[in-house]
This record gives sequence, structure tokens and C-alpha cells, in this order.
Amino acid sequence: MSEILSGGCLCGDVRYEVRGSPTYVFHCHCSMCRRAGGTAFQTWAGFEDDALTITQGTAEDYKSSSFATRSFCGRCGGQLLYNYTSGQSPSVWVTVGTLDHPEMITPQRHIFSADSVPWVHMVDGLPRTEGDPEL
Ligand SMILES: [Zn+2]
Ligand SMILES: [Zn+2]
Repeated sequence: MSEILSGGCLCGDVRYEVRGSPTYVFHCHCSMCRRAGGTAFQTWAGFEDDALTITQGTAEDYKSSSFATRSFCGRCGGQLLYNYTSGQSPSVWVTVGTLDHPEMITPQRHIFSADSVPWVHMVDGLPRTEGDPEL
């Protein structure tokens, strides 16, 4: 399958495409995703190494841990990507909320569910992992 999904930030400066189907789609409730996105949780779709192409603009990188960077638009601040720098697979994750058609993506699981804010009620029936899913 050679499906291509496109997406971009709020202001439109940074645009990207991902090829193929995501390997994983998670709602992440960790405190880092919460702070980075200013949201209760962040929904991520993980793709194989070479699936991503930045088609317009340049995303800024923030090294958020010893093993990953988060990329965002330097103009509007929109969170776009999570990149593992230490060889994990899938290594490229995109924020599902920045896809042009997020309805094309089907979430699979809640992760870091133990860190969720108490007023988020996970009633979608998806499985939960309390911490890191250890892919
Ligand atoms: Zn932007
Ligand atoms: Zn997270």
C-alpha cells in the first residue's frame, strides 16, 4: 500500500507527508507530552524510518530526553514530530492532530495512562499501558 498522509502546523509554514500505514497509534498521557502540547494528552502515529518527508519549511528540534527530539514550528509553536535518536523503531512519530485528515488514523492504545489527569475519562474501550509500552 502506498498511502500518503499529509499534515502541517497551525500557521502552515511547516508541511510534511508520511508514506504507508502507521505501525502504532497511541494516546500518550505522559507529563512531557502534556507540557509540550499544552493538552491533556497527545495522540501519536509512529511510522518507519524513511516514511517522513518535510515538504515545506523547517521544523525546530528540541532534545526532550537523552533518546529523542521533539520538532515543532518555530513560528506558531505547533508540535509536529517525535524522533527517536537511538535506533528505536518506529523512529518517526507525527502528532495525529496535525494531519490534514486525522480521521484516517485509528488509535490503538493509551500509554502512560497512570500519569493521566483525573478528569480525562478513557471510555473508548482501548487497552491501556500504565507506563512506557516498550516497543
Ligand atoms: Zn506554524
Ligand atoms: Zn508522551
